[in-house]
Amino acid sequence: MHIPFDNSYATLPAAFYTRLEPTSVQDAKMLAFNDDLASVLGITASDMAEAAQVFGGNIVPENATPLAQLYAGHQFGSFNPQLGDGRAILLGEVIGTDGIRRDIQLKGSGPTPYSRMGDGRAWLGPVLREYVVSEAMHALGIPTTRALAAVSTGEQIWREQGALPGAILTRVALSHLRVGTFQVFAHRGEVENLKTLTNYAIQRHYPDAEGPMDLLRAVCAAQADLVTQWMSVGFIHGVMNTDNCSIAGETIDYGPCAFMDAFHQNRVFSSIDQQGRYAFGAQPGIAVWNMAQLATSLVQQMQDKDAAIEEATEIVHAMPELLENGWRNRFAAKIGISTSQPEDTPLIEELLGLMQADGADFTNTFRALCEQDARDQFTNRDAFDVWSEKWQARVTSEPDVKALMSRANPAVIPRNHRIEQMIDAAVAGDMAPFERLMKALATPYAETDPDLSRPPSQQEIVPATFCGT
Ligand code: AMP
Ligand code: MG
Repeated sequence: MHIPFDNSYATLPAAFYTRLEPTSVQDAKMLAFNDDLASVLGITASDMAEAAQVFGGNIVPENATPLAQLYAGHQFGSFNPQLGDGRAILLGEVIGTDGIRRDIQLKGSGPTPYSRMGDGRAWLGPVLREYVVSEAMHALGIPTTRALAAVSTGEQIWREQGALPGAILTRVALSHLRVGTFQVFAHRGEVENLKTLTNYAIQRHYPDAEGPMDLLRAVCAAQADLVTQWMSVGFIHGVMNTDNCSIAGETIDYGPCAFMDAFHQNRVFSSIDQQGRYAFGAQPGIAVWNMAQLATSLVQQMQDKDAAIEEATEIVHAMPELLENGWRNRFAAKIGISTSQPEDTPLIEELLGLMQADGADFTNTFRALCEQDARDQFTNRDAFDVWSEKWQARVTSEPDVKALMSRANPAVIPRNHRIEQMIDAAVAGDMAPFERLMKALATPYAETDPDLSRPPSQQEIVPATFCGT
């Protein structure tokens, strides 16, 4: 097996990380391997038994520089001055056949100096959940970390539910730089490290940015775009803490995330999000809040702090408009409008209001709109008819409503109940439901497996997702 490492993070100052190797596991077995992604990364792996040893953490591959990254973060609004990779190890980076540099990280690979009270491990459920959901996100065209491999460890992990099978996910990301990576140095007053980090982030992700304020502007734009894309597919991240907010603008750290079935603006799945801080409709506001934290950290390195604060404030204050326009464009496309106008907002909001009042299925209602049979998704059909007339009038001048809508409205998303069923089967040794989900989710805009588009029955509904990862 060959991984063409080209590591840059390991050349940064020692304060940025702790060098250490993964902790070996009893019995590493490959559960899933992403051949397509491996080939983009230039990784050749013909022997899956050997690959399981590498991605299970038993063999450190040649030229890897394994390390755990340091960061801090606001968790549910309160600042934690020291987090860091508590159960993840960055093996290194590769430059893919597409010329893009990406991190290769093991998640669940044993304790690190940043583990605090944790065991450094992950259990099979969240590993497969992240595998499926992140790859589904990628197929939807939404920026995300990806899954290269899932390995079972043959060891037991103790969680609230009891003993569970252990597993390790190999995650691939544009980088693992987070808002929290900036926060840790800003909080400690380590201005030199903050400057080094800023330059590193600029070079790696936004080479056109000229200085910290330009970086802030670019990350704000990337985050605004990301969150509007989440909204457009009914995705709720669930833990938008600043340590889970990627500088590269990718969806990262899939925990108690979920795609909504029945639409509601205030939908929350995460069992630990008691206040609904990260509810579906709260996500744009939280993205702005997170960018304000990045701004606060970045200004610490500026010569003229007053001027920097003023500029940073302006940049962050411009974000709601970016979010609003992005949201309107994305949802306008979902109802077949190619060039949206501010006046389209009430039309979109009215539809969402009807959907919310009826508990209509988010994905299927929009998909049915493409097929002209959305009326059946509503119990209050008269109200829908009134809306539909206004909608028809708005889209008469559109050249190809149906084509636009079928590109903006997926037929299949990773529904919670399917994920739970897939995990139960995998724990019992049956990977067939995993394979089935992966196959259908690879082409989410095509109806390849209609049964996976079915909303959960009353008994199948998953009311909450758990962080006990
Ligand atoms: P997360 O909510 O998964 O983004 O994790 C938040 C923080 O807790 C990160 O610093 C993780 O590395 C750490 N963490 C989560 N689970 C564990 C675990 N089982 N062992 C050690 N650290 C963990
Ligand atoms: Mg995290």
